[in-house]
Amino acid sequence: SIKHVAIYGKGGIGKSCTASNIAAACAEEGHKVLMVGCDPKSDSSITLIGRRIPTMMDLILKGGEFKEEDVVHQGFRGVRCIEVGGPEPGVGCAGRGIIVAIDFLRKVSKAMEEVDLVLYDVPGDIVCGGFSAPIRKGLVSQAYIITSGEYMPLYAANNISKGLLRLNTPLAGVICNSREAAGEREREIVNQFAQELNSRMVAFIPKEPIVQQCERRTVTVIEGAPDSKIAAVYRALAREIMSGGEARIPEPLSDERLRELSRDLGSEE
Ligand code: ATP
Ligand code: MG
Repeated sequence: SIKHVAIYGKGGIGKSCTASNIAAACAEEGHKVLMVGCDPKSDSSITLIGRRIPTMMDLILKGGEFKEEDVVHQGFRGVRCIEVGGPEPGVGCAGRGIIVAIDFLRKVSKAMEEVDLVLYDVPGDIVCGGFSAPIRKGLVSQAYIITSGEYMPLYAANNISKGLLRLNTPLAGVICNSREAAGEREREIVNQFAQELNSRMVAFIPKEPIVQQCERRTVTVIEGAPDSKIAAVYRALAREIMSGGEARIPEPLSDERLRELSRDLGSEE
C-alpha cells in the first residue's frame, strides 16, 4: 500500500529541508515518491526540481483547463513534486487549499496512485486547518513531528501531538533537528520528550553548514553532498520511514512537565 507521511513541526524548524532530503534518499533507493508541498511559500520542491514550480492554486485561480504536466513536476531521480500553493497571508486558510488541490489532483493525475510514498510538507502554523486537512481527508497514514531541544519547538511539538490525539492519528516518531553543532543535550531532551509522548526519537539530525550550502545551490544534501555524514543520517531516516515502525496515539505532556523537562535538561549551567 502507498504510504502517506506528513511531517509536522514549528515554523522554521526544518520540515521542508528534511522532507526533501527524505524524498531524495527514498528515490535513490528506487522508491517512487510524490512530494506534496502544502505551504503557501511553495518551497518544498525547490531543491528537488532546481527551480520554483507553479502552484496548483495559481493554476486553479487562472481558470481554464490544466493537465498533469502543468502541476506535477519531476526532479531528482524522478521524484514527483506538487506545490499546492495557498492564500495570501491573512486571507483564508491553507487547509481548504490542500483539500481543493488534492481533489483536483485526483482528477488530472495518476501520481497519487503510482507512487510508494506521498510526503506532505505541512505549513508550520498549527492553528490553521493546514494542520489537519490531510488527516481529516483520511490521507495521512503516518505522522512525524520534527523538533529541536529548545522550548518553543518542543511546545509546538507537544501542541501538534494534542492535535493528533484529538484526530485519533498515531504518531510514527519524533525527529530531532539539532540547533547546536554538538547537540548532545538536545539529543537527551528530545529522546526523553519522545518517550514521555508514547513515541520514540527516530533520527537525530546534526546541524551542519553543508545543508544551507546545498540549499543555496538548490540541491538536496543527498544530491549535492552525497558522501557527507548528514546525507547518511537522511538515508537512515528514509529507510526508517519506508519500513514504517510502530505508530502509536501520542500522550501529550502537561505544560508543567514540558517546562520541567526543558528546565532540567536544557539549562546551560
Ligand atoms: P517553515 O515552517 O517556514 O516552512 P520549515 O520548518 O520548512 O520552515 P526549513 O525551511 O526546512 O524549515 O528550514 C529552515 C532553515 O534551516 C533552512 O535554511 C534550512 O536549510 C535550515 N536547516 C534545516 N535543517 C538543518 C540542519 N540540520 N543543519 C543546518 N541547517 C538546517
Ligand atoms: Mg517549510
